[in-house]
Amino acid sequence: MAKKKKFIKLVCKQCNKINYFTNKSKALVEEKLNLKKFCKWCRKHTDHKEGKK
Ligand SMILES: [Zn+2]
Repeated sequence: MAKKKKFIKLVCKQCNKINYFTNKSKALVEEKLNLKKFCKWCRKHTDHKEGKK
């Protein structure tokens, strides 16, 4: 069985723009991502969450 890599989107909570793509291991899928990253749209560091499809 091939292991699927799950790609997720990191979405800015403030403007809801997708800023980053990443993947995470299956073990981490359960955890919610909540990351501070720079949003080029907001031009500042904002909280990013895992985006849904
Ligand atoms: Zn933003």
